[in-house]
Amino acid sequence: AMTSTNDIRRSFLDFFGGEGHMRVPSAPLVPQNDPTLMFVNAGMVPFKNVFTGLETRPYSTAVSSQKCVRAGGKHNDLDNVGYTARHHTFFEMLGNFSFGDYFKERAITLAWNLITKEWGISPDRLIVTVYHTDDDAFALWKKIAGLPDSRIIRIATKDNFWAMGDNGPCGPCSEIFYDHGEHIPGGPPGSPDEDGDRFVEIWNLVFMQYEQEAGEIVRDLPRPSIDTGMGLERIAAVLQGKHDNYEIDLFQTLIGETAEMTKTDATGPMSASHRVIADHLRASGFLVADGVLPSNEGRGYVLRRIMRRAMRHAHLLGAKDPLMYRLVPSLVSQMGGAFPELTRAQPLIEETLKLEETRFRQTLETGLRLLDEATAGMGAGAVLPGETAFKLYDTYGFPLDLTEDALRRQGLSVDKTGFDTAMAAQKAAARAAWAGSGAQADEGVWFDIAEESGATEFTGYNSDTAQGEV
Ligand code: ATP
Ligand code: MG
Ligand code: MG
Ligand code: MG
Repeated sequence: AMTSTNDIRRSFLDFFGGEGHMRVPSAPLVPQNDPTLMFVNAGMVPFKNVFTGLETRPYSTAVSSQKCVRAGGKHNDLDNVGYTARHHTFFEMLGNFSFGDYFKERAITLAWNLITKEWGISPDRLIVTVYHTDDDAFALWKKIAGLPDSRIIRIATKDNFWAMGDNGPCGPCSEIFYDHGEHIPGGPPGSPDEDGDRFVEIWNLVFMQYEQEAGEIVRDLPRPSIDTGMGLERIAAVLQGKHDNYEIDLFQTLIGETAEMTKTDATGPMSASHRVIADHLRASGFLVADGVLPSNEGRGYVLRRIMRRAMRHAHLLGAKDPLMYRLVPSLVSQMGGAFPELTRAQPLIEETLKLEETRFRQTLETGLRLLDEATAGMGAGAVLPGETAFKLYDTYGFPLDLTEDALRRQGLSVDKTGFDTAMAAQKAAARAAWAGSGAQADEGVWFDIAEESGATEFTGYNSDTAQGEV
């Protein structure tokens, strides 16, 4: 019988629990200890202060399945969703952690035993990477896993060196890749076509062994630590004999529902729409369950972008009425057992999705018609004027990334500078109107402050600072 995604999560937690790790429930998606970060985007985030020594816990090793969202800031996988086999906006990161307890040897031994012995993955399908100078890790992989030199790849880029920021713990990484087979395009890690989907990174081990100050390594950590992260959906694909994350049980159920509701084929040319809807439904449901509501700024705007983008895809599938909220019961029945907050929030999630979709549908069609007119006659490679994208945003409620996503199939893009200029012009006009309204001088000051503090919370879709480095 096929191992379900729920079973795989449990198996991971049981394996490390059996090895003395404290089982720690997932923290909420809204970071509790890090104002620079928009959403928790890795399993180690809730443990940051434990790694730096600011906080102590009554255990020195832990295991978790952490809810993550990567839809903005430094790690933004939004544009990958629907188009790669391995990226989601919301996913679970399975992780084991050592806070100054065990180090490389035990971390590699545990990882290897779990995937090849407990789970029975063939070693022939596995390739690992190490940081180019990390001879210890290279030797340990050889000794523990018996891998030939050719399948332990030294990587010199920052991909294989992790740092918490400019100050604090850092160290080399080792990534484990699964080879899904020759029939899939893509090369091994470190090769020019490594971004293909043949060799999929399943597990990232981080060996924290140095301390940085102002971006320079200044000393060895007295007690080196371990942080690992494995995508639950990626390992589920491997263990369920699928190449693609969207073919695992969980997604097949959700996608089966959208296919049924819209009477469309989930595997044909519309498959990206089905995937986007299923993915964004999870992100939306979990974000609402953790207290985020759609709005026009900060976290709420990221959520609104995710919801509206999915809603355009529902429209593409021909849905005549709000659709997203009708998928919630299926999501809850699959994931509510592991995440009771999802079950508790079910009515709120349904209501929020229904309201947002009802509202957005009032302008969606007109906006899409305008977009069609504006792009009529444009050939691949052409650029939509920023003014038009801004009008879609301002009048029809189209987030910029939704417009970009809509143009993607035709090979068109948006003039983002023009969009920003139009946005700035509108803000200046609003401010001038405010100044001329007879409002008191301090109210004008308040307006500026509000705008600035808004900007600290959310500094843009592509900003490198919106999410702290993890
Ligand atoms: P990739 O190179 O494939 O984008 P990554 O190196 O960015 O992955 P890490 O930051 O190392 O990923 O995260 C640890 C693990 O979490 C990865 O090995 C992968 O299994 C999983 N993971 C990362 N990003 C995603 C995502 N967007 N969707 C699903 N799983 C993910
Ligand atoms: Mg990535
Ligand atoms: Mg990677
Ligand atoms: Mg990685």
